Amino acid sequence: MLSNRLSIITPSVTVGISTKVKELKDSGKKIINLSIGEPDFNVPEKAKYSGIESLNNDETKYNLVPGITILREEICKKLLDENNCDYSLDEIVVSSGAKNAITNALLAVTDPGDEVLLPKPYWVSYSEMTKIVNAIPVPMNTDKSNDFKLTGDILKKYITNKTKLLILTNPSNPTGAVYTKEELLDIANICLENNIYILSDEIYEKICYTDKFVSMASLSKEIKDITITINGFAKSAAMTGIRLGYSASNKEIAKGICAIQGHLVSHPCLTSQYIGYAALRDCKKDLDNMVDIYKYRRDLIVSKLDSMTNIRYIYPEGAFYIFIDLSKIKDNFNFSESFSVEFCEEFLNKHNVAIVPGLAFGIDDYVRISYACDEKDFLEGLNRLNDFISEIMVSCPNSAL
Ligand code: PMP
Ligand code: GLU
Repeated sequence: MLSNRLSIITPSVTVGISTKVKELKDSGKKIINLSIGEPDFNVPEKAKYSGIESLNNDETKYNLVPGITILREEICKKLLDENNCDYSLDEIVVSSGAKNAITNALLAVTDPGDEVLLPKPYWVSYSEMTKIVNAIPVPMNTDKSNDFKLTGDILKKYITNKTKLLILTNPSNPTGAVYTKEELLDIANICLENNIYILSDEIYEKICYTDKFVSMASLSKEIKDITITINGFAKSAAMTGIRLGYSASNKEIAKGICAIQGHLVSHPCLTSQYIGYAALRDCKKDLDNMVDIYKYRRDLIVSKLDSMTNIRYIYPEGAFYIFIDLSKIKDNFNFSESFSVEFCEEFLNKHNVAIVPGLAFGIDDYVRISYACDEKDFLEGLNRLNDFISEIMVSCPNSAL
């Protein structure tokens, strides 16, 4: 008999779609992949070289559990200079990707049965990670007219005596929405009043097209104390396969995370840590360049979507996703269980374009497109989406077309 845990978790939809795309491509099909959030850039040269150099220097033995000192020093410097957050070395734990940092944090602060609040739409893995640690995910409805952002008033409605943690993604995956300082304060003050920890996932923080991004932990000393800041290198430095992320938290939580990590993985791959170190120290220009390109693509995709009928979208101010509202099409589409899942399946089968169903993020009227790919691909993908929507609307007697 396997663990009950397996019967309550769903494998990652984003990873699943991307695996399916790989299989289809291997079988000779030409697929446009707008599903997974994986930058189409390579790891910056100086960062690669730092990893190679570390291997040549035989830096291959067990090392410190929270990560090598020079990397944590560089992370502290980054958090102070760029995010106005003053963390010390023993408050940083480097992990094997942000996923590992988040599960470590969940293990460190929750007990079985504790509730973890997730504003909808939420990134696919939060709910499943929460279940893996035997805590209870509590999805919270948010308001479409406010770009699905959480507010203090909404938060209050979901707090119980079991609430332990709020997970907030800023900028958001899948919407690309970015919170203002006032919006964050509104949320954080409720958490302070109710003894709720905040996991602030800031992995897309660098990929932000507005200057309004503020780190949760920079708001005040008290807020910093209840916040676990999560960040990583996968998105900002195009290092998805290098598997490097980190948490910054108060000393007590960091110590707990270290104790857990010491048993589960010891420390992340040393070569990856040297790559991340150089990415932070020497590759600012490369990273800025990637963001300029994402911004150009965001503008392009938005103007293309504006020319299409029957759809709406959340205007993305960060990350590299666009969350598209297909509620106008839903009534004309034949589906049995989930509109967005079946819409995406049929779109992939008929038009060879992979996108992610909104249901994976808790909202079934939407689909998510990633523009971390070549502009030719997403423009062609959108043309095909337009064709697919037209087919659906034309085939329906109640068609608005
Ligand atoms: N947080 C969010 C919001 C994400 O979209 C992702 C996906 N990469 C992660 C965390 C995990 O990042 P990593 O690849 O570093 O584990
Ligand atoms: N986080 C990215 C996404 O949402 C990568 C896939 C994953 O790890 O979920 O597509």
